[in-house]
Amino acid sequence: MKDAGKIRLILSDIDGVMTDGKIVYTERCGEIKAFSARDGFGIRLWMKTGGFFGVVTGRSSEVVRLRCNDLGVSILEQGILDKAETVRQITSRLGVSLDETAFIGDDYPDLPALKIVGFPAGVADAAEEVRASSVWVSDVPGGKGAVRQLIETLLKARGEWDRALAFYRGENV
Ligand SMILES: [Mg+2]
Repeated sequence: MKDAGKIRLILSDIDGVMTDGKIVYTERCGEIKAFSARDGFGIRLWMKTGGFFGVVTGRSSEVVRLRCNDLGVSILEQGILDKAETVRQITSRLGVSLDETAFIGDDYPDLPALKIVGFPAGVADAAEEVRASSVWVSDVPGGKGAVRQLIETLLKARGEWDRALAFYRGENV
């Protein structure tokens, strides 16, 4: 797949990508979101092979901070209105080019970011415009392992999937 093998940085939206998009409110505990353990596995694998992973989300919540903390994801931008500008800032901070960046989204606010990265990606149940603007669309919907599927696709394009799994098993390769 075009340019899939040169991606070094994956940036992901949260609602509708790393979750199914539902935001559950409770009176006492604030927001509840459900994350996929499969995505967590993929993200750990990706970072173990030296890839950068970050989150860019329009909303702002404590549970997202907790999830990122749990996964060891330190690139976390919440409350972002202009996702394209934030993507530019993150890439220049890391010294990664936009061409080497993938962004995965599900809805209209993700479009500006999708349009500037080398590998725009969407989830299976993304809005029509997002799917049309993406070079890759997951088979599974948001919150069901779409990020893990993206990571597997990128690592396989680089010929590093097997090495990544060996890393995860703790083998010295
Ligand atoms: Mg979203």
